[in-house]
Amino acid sequence: MHKKITIVGAGNVGATTAQLIAEKNLADVVLVDIVEGIPQGKALDIQEACPLWNSSVRVTGTNNYEDTAHSDIVVITAGRARKPGMSRDELLQSNARVVKDVAKNIAVTSPESIVIVVTNPMDAMAHLTLKVTNFPHRRIVGMGGVLDSARMRAFIAMETGVSPDKVETMVLGSHGDLMVPLPRLTRAGGKNITDILPESKIEEIIHRTKNGGAEIVGLLKTGSAYFAPAASIVEMIENILEIKKEILSCSVYLDGEYGLKGVYIGVPVRLCSAGVGEIIELELKENEKQALSASAEAVKGLIRKLVT
Ligand code: NAD
Repeated sequence: MHKKITIVGAGNVGATTAQLIAEKNLADVVLVDIVEGIPQGKALDIQEACPLWNSSVRVTGTNNYEDTAHSDIVVITAGRARKPGMSRDELLQSNARVVKDVAKNIAVTSPESIVIVVTNPMDAMAHLTLKVTNFPHRRIVGMGGVLDSARMRAFIAMETGVSPDKVETMVLGSHGDLMVPLPRLTRAGGKNITDILPESKIEEIIHRTKNGGAEIVGLLKTGSAYFAPAASIVEMIENILEIKKEILSCSVYLDGEYGLKGVYIGVPVRLCSAGVGEIIELELKENEKQALSASAEAVKGLIRKLVT
């Protein structure tokens, strides 16, 4: 029996995530969207590729939450993406309406699910999902840090010539302009990047990482990134399914960890079949702590705007 994963939003991120799950034979997939025909058409197209991938999963599309019932994992990608010049935070009110509606539905149809929140501004949307579903907070986790870390790894690989899979890094904080990359903990081919790259180059890479999403939006002009976001979601799914056992930066609800309380923010965690298995508390330097607190304050500011 395959596990069942529902993906809400059959747009660029949702459909690409469905494709990767099917290609890797990870789980049955239900794509849901409000637009009639789009989830059905994309699901059928992916299903028709499964014989070529030697994949035995079922992929279906629907406009009805009843078809998503008893999902093990729900991924929320529904909502608007940024346009050039827009910040993620500008999507707050319109995407909050979408996420509220989605969260209400999944709370009824998949009350035992683990939820991965992707819709931007993601940390605030994860908080909103927690409030609306009333699920235990360990079952709601946001995707941001895996993507930001992957972007930074790609940029370091491009700069050093080291293979991207031999680059390790950790980007903490909110998935936005105040994210907190940690060059101190970044290694390429086993060497710390502070030993192999000049400070000015590291600063450039950090700047490019923080603007990684905007760089793609600026190039595409009509949408935002989806290949690396979908791959990041699938990395989290493989850890929830316990196929992989990694430490990933994910947005989780902090209840005193890192001196922060009542806020979703990106920190290193281990995911497991129960959701967030463990929050790993790194020893942070004073400036890193301050940057993480500033990031958390910004997310809290968005939450306050949502309430009022
Ligand atoms: P997209 O426009 O391609 O797709 C969004 C889909 O959501 C559309 O098909 C739309 O019909 C659907 N939708 C809208 N309202 C809905 C509702 N109430 N119920 C179900 N479906 C609904 O956008 P995209 O590129 O796939 O991005 C989706 C979201 O993910 C955006 O908010 C984007 O900013 C965010 N995103 C986040 C990250 C991250 O790292 N957290 C990365 C990339 C994109």
